[in-house]
Amino acid sequence: MSDYDYDLFVIGAGSGGVRAARVASGYGAKVAIAEESRVGGTCVIRGCVPKKLLVYGAHFSEDFEDASAYGWTLPGEPTFSWKTLIANKDREIDRLNGIYKKLLAGSDVELFESRAVFKDAHTLQVGDQTVTAERILIAVGGHPTVPDIPGIEHAITSNEAFHLEDQPKRIAVVGGGYIAVEFAGIFAGLGSDVSLLYRGEQILRGFDRDIRNHLAEEIVKKGIDLKVETNVTAIEKQADGSLKLALTDGSDMVVDAVMFATGRAPNTSGLGLDEAGVETNRKGAVLISSGLQTNIDNIYAVGDVTDRVQLTPVAIKEGMAFADTVYGGKPWHMTYQAIPTAVFSQPPVGTVGLSEEEARAKGGEVLIFKSTFRPMRHTLSGREEKTLMKLVVDKTTDVVLGAHMVGPDAAEIIQGIGIAVRMGATKAQFDQTVAVHPSAAEEFVTMR
Ligand code: NDP
Repeated sequence: MSDYDYDLFVIGAGSGGVRAARVASGYGAKVAIAEESRVGGTCVIRGCVPKKLLVYGAHFSEDFEDASAYGWTLPGEPTFSWKTLIANKDREIDRLNGIYKKLLAGSDVELFESRAVFKDAHTLQVGDQTVTAERILIAVGGHPTVPDIPGIEHAITSNEAFHLEDQPKRIAVVGGGYIAVEFAGIFAGLGSDVSLLYRGEQILRGFDRDIRNHLAEEIVKKGIDLKVETNVTAIEKQADGSLKLALTDGSDMVVDAVMFATGRAPNTSGLGLDEAGVETNRKGAVLISSGLQTNIDNIYAVGDVTDRVQLTPVAIKEGMAFADTVYGGKPWHMTYQAIPTAVFSQPPVGTVGLSEEEARAKGGEVLIFKSTFRPMRHTLSGREEKTLMKLVVDKTTDVVLGAHMVGPDAAEIIQGIGIAVRMGATKAQFDQTVAVHPSAAEEFVTMR
């Protein structure tokens, strides 16, 4: 008999925590999980899933416009109801929240719907109970951060954007990362006047330069007012409820809402990590080894709380690696190379492997293959949207180091290409692959 209440206690029922808990339980461990908010975590409750539903919603405006070229006549001018979209989205999130709870119950994982705080390395205060566990997994995720500027209390983050009573007629989105670019596209597609304000010289820092430039051009074509090298220095609420933003170039901008997508920080404040002796970095991220172990032997961490690669599938894989290794007798390490990812902007971005800049920085000779074309769908609609596809190839070995795309279905396409890049496929092997015709994806095997 164990001296502890549980073999494993997981703090945080998001993507990584739930997966680790279920898999560990499947291996016979006695497992409990605590969640202070809603089961499902950032991705399911206030991230990827509701975001993608809003992205679908936003695309209809263009679809309606394009329909006439295909012979369709709409019964009248399409109208959009923000309240309907939000209510339907909320219903789906409630359903998924229920499924996650059922999955935990079905896996014999005990759920505590309260906050858990460390008292020592094996003891947690969970709501009004004290529990002990042989091992503890920290999977508490992160939260949006905003800069400390006057009037910041009038701003929203992605958390609130999902629950706005009314759609803002004019919105400024601040930031140039995934969340800023995605929400700018959502609000613009749904009919808001959108300004995207980014402090750097081009959005999506860290992505391939051509992809960044191409996406910037496309979103401007769609009516987004992109202002780079611009930041907000103060926010002032006006008598009519609108917000006056003071910008770094000395000008003002009046909007109905301002959303900050300026990064996320780990949820470690008040978690009692000091009581357990767990080390964190300056941002509060839990420091872990390649085996996901903290400096305290029986405490592990996965997902956004480690502030490494903030992506749901990474947290899930880390959760599985932890459970397989510690409880399943099947040790493996998560690898972080060639992680495919998508930005659900309009049009979306799909990317895997090295950007051209990263490949060149490694010093070897690099071959670049690029294709820019109008998606076939728009040959009839006449829409001036262009797709960009790009391969980065090592000249010496012919290995495809990176594949990048901006255009419809980029996320769907890059997943398959990700397998090839992960396997170390060469450009010759891409070329030997028979094309699927007519498709956009075929460009990846026909670029010469
Ligand atoms: P990111 O870290 O990706 O981007 C933050 C942005 O805000 C950057 O452009 C940054 O500028 C800017 N910024 C930071 N601080 C300030 C400031 N004080 N004033 C003005 N601008 C500032 O964070 P996100 O919030 O967009 O997303 C967090 C993470 O979540 C992402 O990195 C991603 O891993 C994940 N995510 C993934 C998604 C997907 O897979 N589709 C979707 C959404 C999120 P600079 O470039 O100069 O640093």
